[in-house]
Amino acid sequence: EQAPVITVDGPGGAGKGTLCQLLAEKLEWHLLDSGAIYRVLALAARHHNVALDDESGLMPLAAHLDVQFPVVDGHIKTILEGEDVSRSIRTEQIGEAASKVAAFPRVREALLRRQRAFRGQPGLIADGRDMGTVVFPDAQVKIFLDASAEERARRRLNQLQDKGFDVSFDRLLSEIQARDERDRNRAVAPLKAAEDALIIDSTTMSIAQVLDKVLSHTKVKL
Ligand code: C5P
Repeated sequence: EQAPVITVDGPGGAGKGTLCQLLAEKLEWHLLDSGAIYRVLALAARHHNVALDDESGLMPLAAHLDVQFPVVDGHIKTILEGEDVSRSIRTEQIGEAASKVAAFPRVREALLRRQRAFRGQPGLIADGRDMGTVVFPDAQVKIFLDASAEERARRRLNQLQDKGFDVSFDRLLSEIQARDERDRNRAVAPLKAAEDALIIDSTTMSIAQVLDKVLSHTKVKL
């Protein structure tokens, strides 16, 4: 019997990361941050001097990506080739680079099995862009979490400032819009809600309200 999956897809800054962490803690399920895998690949490309538009160069990196996600003191760390990159993958530059490597169909294909391997008992929370549409189409619960671009830029600004990064709102907003555009318009696994997804617009909602809504929806579905 396959473990149950809750997929949470949506654009950057909509609150997926926080929601998924809370869900995973509350249900005591596994957590997949698929965006971190694309971010790590972008960083690996930089380390190995592979250009972001070089699909053939990216392929072996994707196939053999040496990444681990150990839990240290209750926090998930990201380790690339033995180095802790948890912080360096969080810049908007790496987010942008991730969305470039993520546009290649063969690169996505090479990362599929790795993502599906996160599925295990008692269940999985999967955070990304194509979790409900491509990676776990048979998920029991699918959520599409959206918010206005301005609100997402505000949230990202707070998040990055909390982590000590120095960024401007206007720059963040235009970066978020450019990344969205690329993610929504790519040919393979574009960002879009699965047909059977519950769409939640979190623009004027608190994270607690979003969590409540998802938990009550989950109760009905499971
Ligand atoms: O969610 P996060 O901002 O970490 O994702 C970084 C980029 O990785 C996204 O902009 C998107 O292009 C790509 N991505 C993807 N599919 C996923 C998760 C992330 O294409 N499932």
